[in-house]
Amino acid sequence: MPSALVFFNELSDVPSKAQRELLTLASRFDEATLAVASEVSQEAQEVVNGYGVAKLLVASGGDDAFIDHSLSVLEAAVKLSAADVVLVANDNFNREIAARLAVRLDGAVVTDATDVSADLVVTKDELAGSYSAQAKATSGTLFVTMKPNSIEDVPGEQDGQLDVLALELPGAAAPQIRVVATEAKAVSDRPKLTEARVVVAGGRGVNGDFGPVEDLADALSGAVGASRAATDAGWISHDAQIGQTGVTVSPQLFISAGISGAIQQKAGMQTSKCIIAINKDVDAPVFEIADFGIVGDLSKVLPQAAEEIRRR
Ligand code: FAD
Repeated sequence: MPSALVFFNELSDVPSKAQRELLTLASRFDEATLAVASEVSQEAQEVVNGYGVAKLLVASGGDDAFIDHSLSVLEAAVKLSAADVVLVANDNFNREIAARLAVRLDGAVVTDATDVSADLVVTKDELAGSYSAQAKATSGTLFVTMKPNSIEDVPGEQDGQLDVLALELPGAAAPQIRVVATEAKAVSDRPKLTEARVVVAGGRGVNGDFGPVEDLADALSGAVGASRAATDAGWISHDAQIGQTGVTVSPQLFISAGISGAIQQKAGMQTSKCIIAINKDVDAPVFEIADFGIVGDLSKVLPQAAEEIRRR
């Protein structure tokens, strides 16, 4: 039976939703090892143990603002664990690590996967979600970056033996990048876009004003997303872009406001459990995938919705 290695750059006392999904996935395999590139608290070790992880490899030191340290940690962990499959979250940082290591170790890589079976068949959506494809690696270690919200988190209650090992890094080569300065940025109170249960997204139709979108997101304790037209216009950060060239979200509720529903946009949100679209054009393609549609002006609909939610 294949074995799995999960990698986190860091792990807080309460693992994030994406991390819990990866631990749930790893519990399908014969043996699960977790490697973390920084210290792990006792509380976090207990949670990890519950998911049936047998071995925890912990590395410390290193500057994790850039990729060198994490790359060395994962490389050492892959060699030590001899895992058949390496599971990481599908974000830019982990995609780069997975791709670089797969090349270095002559392995295989599949990004943006939605599932990995116990016999190492990887599933991913293709052509903006028009069909799904299954693939198997033909040689070497398989590196998989997992799309958030694809695996249902099933908190484990196992109480087995967790071996915690300090990961020895081979004589560190001179880093290729040295940090010369850091600057703290304001952190939003809103949930992470890829992990939020509710996402309210605005497009060109907001006409430069994301206020009503943000207000409804806050009323629903949700995250704010955007179409590329809105991020390209500079109305909101590029981090908020949802779609083929942005992030993929799959929340319980997705509210699309002033977004036409181009195929590249739909690719990032069409697996949402419930989609509500607000658009003043009754023929907008977004209505084809919406569970509920409101034909109207978002500058009127969004404030009314926020007010009603706060009133209840
Ligand atoms: P528009 O298509 O201009 O639609 C605006 C909508 O708002 C219209 O339907 C209009 O009826 C409605 N509207 C206007 N005013 C109001 C109002 N007051 N109230 C209600 N509705 C109103 N796009 C992405 O979003 N994400 C991606 O990752 C992405 N990747 C791409 C990759 C490639 C290779 C390419 C070629 C394109 C990509 N795009 C992506 C761009 C995509 O094709 C669309 O151009 C983009 O999604 C359009 O954004 P939009 O729906 O906000 O704007």
